[in-house]
Amino acid sequence: MTFDLLIRNGTLPDGRKADIGIRGETIAAIEPKLEAEAGRVINATGNLVSPPFVDPHFHMDATLSYGIPRINASGTLLEGIALWGELKKVMTFEEVRDRALAYCDWAVSMGLLAIRSHVDTCDDRLLGVEALLEVKKTVAPYIDLQLVAFPQDGFYRSPTARENTIRALDMGVDVVGGIPHFERTMEDGRRSVTELCEIAAERGLMVDMHCDETDDPLSRHIEQLAYETQRLGLQGRVAGSHLTSMHSMDNYYVSKLLPLIAEARVSAIPNPLINIMLQGRHDTFPKRRGLTRVKEMQALGIRVGWGQDCVLDPWYSLGTADMLDVAFMGLHVAQMSSPADMAKCFDMVTTVNTSIMGLDHLGLAVGKRASLVVLDAGDAIEAVRLRPERLAVIARGKVVAERTQQDTRLSIAGRPKTVNRRHRAG
Ligand SMILES: [Zn+2]
Repeated sequence: MTFDLLIRNGTLPDGRKADIGIRGETIAAIEPKLEAEAGRVINATGNLVSPPFVDPHFHMDATLSYGIPRINASGTLLEGIALWGELKKVMTFEEVRDRALAYCDWAVSMGLLAIRSHVDTCDDRLLGVEALLEVKKTVAPYIDLQLVAFPQDGFYRSPTARENTIRALDMGVDVVGGIPHFERTMEDGRRSVTELCEIAAERGLMVDMHCDETDDPLSRHIEQLAYETQRLGLQGRVAGSHLTSMHSMDNYYVSKLLPLIAEARVSAIPNPLINIMLQGRHDTFPKRRGLTRVKEMQALGIRVGWGQDCVLDPWYSLGTADMLDVAFMGLHVAQMSSPADMAKCFDMVTTVNTSIMGLDHLGLAVGKRASLVVLDAGDAIEAVRLRPERLAVIARGKVVAERTQQDTRLSIAGRPKTVNRRHRAG
């Protein structure tokens, strides 16, 4: 047998050890031991080999704009939205495109090979939409970029948002977005969910709404989203992003709500870095965490994937394009500390997000696209703990990023010469 690329003796996320043979852009074989020749061999002994990281919730039109034209002084969601309004007036097509491309370089270096980005459709120039459609084409050889038409200032609240959102979909944006909790009234929010889901049903598109990103326990647009999903036959194609109000909702109401979400097969995308940073800002103490009910949804079979949301933008002053940072924070805030839950947090930034985005061509299986990552960690839980370097990133069968494993040299008498913080139980 011959392969173009052979990854030897890696540890897969499920614990199996395997060789992975790649021909062209496709995974051709996964076996405990492949007797084969290859154009190039990567020795992954002792290292985790994983499907690519996937971010199902991002804002690529705003990324890397931190400090332009000023920083968010209060740190609240609402000041972030106001600041974005100021930035939109001064930004150019080239700036948006170049910042997005720079971010994609970071993403590739971290093995993040599929991203769903919301793009603001309230600006009459649709400059962000044009820039990200170009970026999508440019990065297609290494990143699956899915775009969501996002009427960020409100589908009804912003005077031209409705018309511009439809224009953006006509231009080729993939997914229908919304922001019902930001409309003027609960009733307008409810109507926006209905109309946007109808637009998606007519066009055969997926839906992903910023939904109930608030601490208000009476913000219940997720109920309408589940209802419209059921009514319009959109099961499996709809996601509710954030759902932070669910943190504060009455428990009896949630006991009715969660089965409705499960029945409609609506996915949930919490964004733990941003939720823990922005929610509870109006509280004194006790201060709410504001993360949605992750384990409770998973217990009912609802798909829940961690999203990143922001890197260096009007809402968040940090961020690294590392989905393991996101999993790490989510694990803590949702208290997912059992071994099974910690491993699940890794799956939530890889395979679960892949399935939420409908990217059936990705995954560690024969016949799938050869996009994968070799990490400096022994297994999935250790990867979440260490958030380690990506030693090799392979996209469509090509090595697109790599770095050498580097342990720290120690100069302490009687102690080992190097240390890398990896740990073998026992
Ligand atoms: Zn968002």
